[in-house]
Amino acid sequence: MSDQSKRTALVYAECAEGKLRRVALEALGAARRLAGDGGSVHAVLAGGGSAASPALAAAAAELAARGAGVVHVIDDPALAGFAPEAYAAAIGAAVAAVQPSIIVLGHTAAGRELAPRVAAALKGGHIADVTAIQVPEDGGADAILTRPLYAGKAFEQRRLLPGASCVITVRPNNLPVAEPVEAGSEGKVAALAYAAPPLWTTVRDVVRKASGRVDLAEADIIVSGGRGVRSADGFAPLEALAKVLGGAVGASRGACDAGYCDYALQIGQTGKTVTPKLYIACGISGAIQHLAGMSQSRVIVAINKDPDAPIFGVADYGIVGDLFEVVPLLTAEFERILA
Ligand code: FAD
Repeated sequence: MSDQSKRTALVYAECAEGKLRRVALEALGAARRLAGDGGSVHAVLAGGGSAASPALAAAAAELAARGAGVVHVIDDPALAGFAPEAYAAAIGAAVAAVQPSIIVLGHTAAGRELAPRVAAALKGGHIADVTAIQVPEDGGADAILTRPLYAGKAFEQRRLLPGASCVITVRPNNLPVAEPVEAGSEGKVAALAYAAPPLWTTVRDVVRKASGRVDLAEADIIVSGGRGVRSADGFAPLEALAKVLGGAVGASRGACDAGYCDYALQIGQTGKTVTPKLYIACGISGAIQHLAGMSQSRVIVAINKDPDAPIFGVADYGIVGDLFEVVPLLTAEFERILA
């Protein structure tokens, strides 16, 4: 293996409510593959505030156990809320310490804010929304990264040349998480100094709209409702099915526009992009703008009373019927099977 195939990679390990997001472990898995055997992988964890320290310590231990050679922890009150300038500076501090050629973040709301800032500071390239990575047998040189274009209608492949500096964001739920390393091979954890930059924005308050629910972007199973649910109460059977399956509830813009649910649930071109293992579309016609956000789901089940609904064109399994009859039947059956 040539030296060119050994890279230094840095992962920004995003946390939510004090816990590592799964996409952080997916980003770590991507970084390990891109760094190649013999390359080095670092992670940076950032946070602050009264409850941050124990949470950061637990997250750092997990990253170290899953192949981050060094986890750089920045625990600073300036990082108590998500101010992009502050977090970009935290990643910048890790970049200065590590000098990576690859930086990997999750393609999340935060990752999308941070990645271009980090790429600009690095004067490097940026490959956003990566859904697949091919690494040659001999290591990380000439790795090929795939990303969807035009709302998933086409795919682009980018080659990561040896020596290239690049910031990569990985789409949640598409790449495998980093597996734990052998006992005794865990990485180390080190505190990293950080000078808070002047902030253009401050977080005054965080309003949680969907507390207690599974995060849509990282959900393995999504039960989604469209205008066919007919009312806010019409989401109740979908909530019940999602609960039994341990999944999240999503929606079409039609349902959001009709006031049946919050826009935070919207999936599609102007909503969230999701790639769960199972997507159950209930009373959703399958407009192209909705498909843009969910057509990469591994298995799609559509429930619609119109046999000609376009959603059946992308569905792996289709049920022609009334969702108010079909969904409770499915819920009862899954309850029985999973009991
Ligand atoms: P409808 O098209 O009205 O479909 C309702 C479906 O429910 C029908 O197929 C009907 O047969 C079925 N149904 C009714 N009753 C029942 C029942 N009891 N049981 C079973 N089935 C039943 N849309 C998105 O979803 N996400 C986006 O991000 C998005 N972005 C957009 C961006 C732009 C610029 C534009 C122009 C549009 C966008 N849209 C988006 C809107 C999109 O074009 C559609 O209007 C929308 O997806 C339709 O939502 P729907 O399928 O819930 O409603």
